[in-house]
Amino acid sequence: MAFSPFSWLLGHFSLDIGIDLGTANTLVHVRGKGIVISEASYVAVNKRSKEPIAIGDAAKEMVGRTPANVETIRPLRDGVISEFEITQAMLEYFIGKAHQQSIVPIPRPRVVVGIPAGVTEVEKRAVYDASKAAGARVTYLIEEPVAAALGAGLAIDEVRGSMVVDIGGGTSEVAVMSMGGVVTSRSLRVAGDELDEDIVQYIRNKYNLLIGIRMAEDVKKTIGSAFRLQEEKTMTLRGRNLVTGLPEAIEVSSIELREATENSVQTIIDTVRDALDETPPEILSDLMDTGICLAGGGSLLQGLDDRLTDELKVRSWVAEDSISCVARGAGIALEDLNKWKDLFVGLERHSSRH
Ligand code: ADP
Ligand code: MG
Repeated sequence: MAFSPFSWLLGHFSLDIGIDLGTANTLVHVRGKGIVISEASYVAVNKRSKEPIAIGDAAKEMVGRTPANVETIRPLRDGVISEFEITQAMLEYFIGKAHQQSIVPIPRPRVVVGIPAGVTEVEKRAVYDASKAAGARVTYLIEEPVAAALGAGLAIDEVRGSMVVDIGGGTSEVAVMSMGGVVTSRSLRVAGDELDEDIVQYIRNKYNLLIGIRMAEDVKKTIGSAFRLQEEKTMTLRGRNLVTGLPEAIEVSSIELREATENSVQTIIDTVRDALDETPPEILSDLMDTGICLAGGGSLLQGLDDRLTDELKVRSWVAEDSISCVARGAGIALEDLNKWKDLFVGLERHSSRH
């Protein structure tokens, strides 16, 4: 993109929107304003007509409580876009909402969307089309771990290597970067959601108690951990006793929860270890200085940083405001499109002004 006074002006007056289209949460960053939307990636639809009834947090609120004719859908659940039209409806809704909030009703926005690494061409096309349909003047796609690294403030354009582990709801993504490019990467369909399911299963097996997935997520966030805690804690869980069929409350400890989620946590750690295994020695030596940066909501599991440091012998640290790294990274990429142009994936050649 050559410099021209026109593009300079446009850059100053247009609305720049960075979007993290996550498996669990969608975040929208607007240049000059920061994060303006942070909502669950859920859509509630009428089962028969497939028309959306609610989008975002309002739809997540309905999970496990819907009547027969309503279904709640997570269109990106496993890091793949399983429901194109529903993903499009969601993206349009969020872009529209961010656009409405802008005071000056100027032009159609420039949009950078963070997408899970490894999505197919068809899926990329679906995101691109949705963004266009939502009024974007120009759309760029960026892989989430790359955006996460930018948002976490890693100097990924330097010759020195850096590593980011982005743990979301449906996928965990590991990327080693240097000179603005990806050296090694790994994507795994084990992340926060899997821990929730582990907890439901564990409580069911041990106590014959069926709890809801949202309660499992809640207890994970409150007392879940990946490393022994200075002070172990307990919490009350409510559900249905599967023998009597009646409601029941039990007390669980953080030690039990650690046991419940151990396999999945270990799987994530082993994936990071595999990525390290494949990293060239010069970069490995850089990583001993820069450490492993953890991003995404799943990185907030207590003690995960300590556990990684302990097992991999490389200092691991959680990025500041780790949940919004991808959206902020997309925003950073928009601020200097020219500098970061190599980070965008596929399809950008189709973008056009019109
Ligand atoms: P995605 O990028 O896939 O949309 P996010 O980065 O938003 O996902 O992370 C969502 C995941 O993070 C969920 O599984 C959620 O339960 C988990 N999470 C959020 N906060 C915490 C916390 N404090 N402790 C453990 N897990 C958390
Ligand atoms: Mg994410």
